[in-house]
Amino acid sequence: MTERATASLREIERLAQLVRDARSVVALTGAGISVPSGIPDFRTPQTGLWARVDPMEVAHIDAFASDPARFWSFYGERFATLRSKQPNGAHRALVEMERAGTLQAVITQNVDMLHRKAGTRELIEVHGSIASCSCSRCARSVELERARAALAAEPDGVPRCEHCGAAMRPDVVLFGELLPADALRRAGELCAGAEVLLCIGSSLEVHPVAGLPLLTARAGGAVAILTEGPTPLDELAAVRVHGDVEVELRALARALAS
Ligand code: ZN
Repeated sequence: MTERATASLREIERLAQLVRDARSVVALTGAGISVPSGIPDFRTPQTGLWARVDPMEVAHIDAFASDPARFWSFYGERFATLRSKQPNGAHRALVEMERAGTLQAVITQNVDMLHRKAGTRELIEVHGSIASCSCSRCARSVELERARAALAAEPDGVPRCEHCGAAMRPDVVLFGELLPADALRRAGELCAGAEVLLCIGSSLEVHPVAGLPLLTARAGGAVAILTEGPTPLDELAAVRVHGDVEVELRALARALAS
């Protein structure tokens, strides 16, 4: 084991103690938790789908409105990539902690459904999820697999509403859109009330989610940051580890179970 990994595990031991002493523990997860499941972080240059396209351009609400066929040629590929991915040990460690009564909720920036697939019950998906699509006119919604079938059946690749024929859209927050107010409010309440906030695999750069740890810190709670790269909030972290999130969360769940 490298020196850094050993140091990380010592920090995890310290984090386990903070978690044991806390009455409320909440997790906030970002793209980094899904990397071990084979989903590259699109902010990492030159990996996967996002290396070939500018997400700000194709996954933008204006792109959906002006050229739904182009939008869906991109999003259809994204669906195909994401739907087969499976949760990893980090997602499962959070489920274990929830079932043991240690973890109150998971707030995630990810749309990949992996927390759902792992079995997290109290889940706030602040950027929505690919689990469903909605009609852009009448708002009727269908599940992912039905939307994929509709997409495959249409000559232009745009899934259309069975009721009114308008283009469907994925139930994710697109670039250029605001986050759902209810989810954001609930996330804010959870973070303000958390005695420990575990920030996992998030670069904490995308607002308004990046402001959530500040709510915990201002209310006197401890912020733990488990993310590979630097974050703008590193200075306020009570615990800071940079290693493999899957190894670290499994170590945390193990320490808490013993
Ligand atoms: Zn409709």
